[in-house]
Amino acid sequence: MFNLNNILRENIKKLVPYSSARDEYKGTEGIFLDANENAFGSPVDMEIEGQVLGLNRYPDTLQIAVKEKLGKIKGLPIENIFLGNGSDEAIDIIFRAFCNPGKDNAIVCPPTYGMYQVSANINDVNVIKVPLIPETFELDTSAILKAVNANTKLIFICSPNNPTGTEVKLEAVKQILENFNGIVVVDEAYINFARYRTFIPELLNYPNLVILQTLSKAWGLAGLRVGMAFASRDIIDVFNKIKPPYNISLVSQKLAAGALDNITQVNDWIKQIVIEREKLITEISKLTSIIQVYPSEASFILVKTTDAKRIYNHLVNSKIVIRDRSGVELCEGCLRITIGTPAENEQVLEAMREYRS
Ligand code: PMP
Repeated sequence: MFNLNNILRENIKKLVPYSSARDEYKGTEGIFLDANENAFGSPVDMEIEGQVLGLNRYPDTLQIAVKEKLGKIKGLPIENIFLGNGSDEAIDIIFRAFCNPGKDNAIVCPPTYGMYQVSANINDVNVIKVPLIPETFELDTSAILKAVNANTKLIFICSPNNPTGTEVKLEAVKQILENFNGIVVVDEAYINFARYRTFIPELLNYPNLVILQTLSKAWGLAGLRVGMAFASRDIIDVFNKIKPPYNISLVSQKLAAGALDNITQVNDWIKQIVIEREKLITEISKLTSIIQVYPSEASFILVKTTDAKRIYNHLVNSKIVIRDRSGVELCEGCLRITIGTPAENEQVLEAMREYRS
């Protein structure tokens, strides 16, 4: 049985979190001389929709306004939502909550998002690699469960997976959730582009599930640095205890809250990106330099080429920058191409057509 208390680090269990001035007094009216802010003002101000933001003031530590809007969109109470300075911050906090440095380990399934390994290294956490099944890039569920040992605290699953773009089957994730007493992190950074649904409804069934999403992809806000973790209230409370008190800036909170009113625009972009993805897959498959195009549920495609390094350099000469993934396990010869605007995708195709081996 999963028991949060059994897998939390002792120091985190005992942690008395920093109490900020604004944790003690919640009102918005008054003379605020409690947080050592500059009461005179700030040298720059930011105006958003006619409202001047007093940047001399600290932001809301729990980002309630943003979470209320997100909660409506995701169908979740705000107590089940954690906000990070990008989902990369959430990944780091997950390691710090559950993994004792130099002792515990996490399972990752390469080829996958590189920050799981980097964040583990930063936190001195051992990584057990259980590669995806070659070519189909499906999870090797039985190998994952066999790899679990007494010190395994986390299993990272990226769905849809980066850099392969492939689907992760709900049944496979359920099997892992049911047979592992640690935390299963399902990273849904690209879920908005998938033809299958988010695993968010499964939060009700699995207390050991943590889902990551981000405003950096479909929402078009990579520069803002806002990522989300969804989990049980108890897990979210732990993350909030660990995070720096003011981890999301006032500017980011205001802009994120405003952006969340624009879901129609975002849905329209998602539709266009998916249409462009399928068009690019069809057209790029016709080229002799392309050996294979993997099916994609994400906002990029992975292609196996005859000579990844030469094609990459050829594109750079046309000032087109894509990602060379040929050095990555199971991705020999592969390039990852983000879906651009129709004009950009056409330029990629033109440059690829001009390539001579
Ligand atoms: N997860 C995956 C799978 C990603 O590809 C990325 C960014 N490339 C992230 C998380 C991090 O996103 P953020 O910008 O929210 O830190």
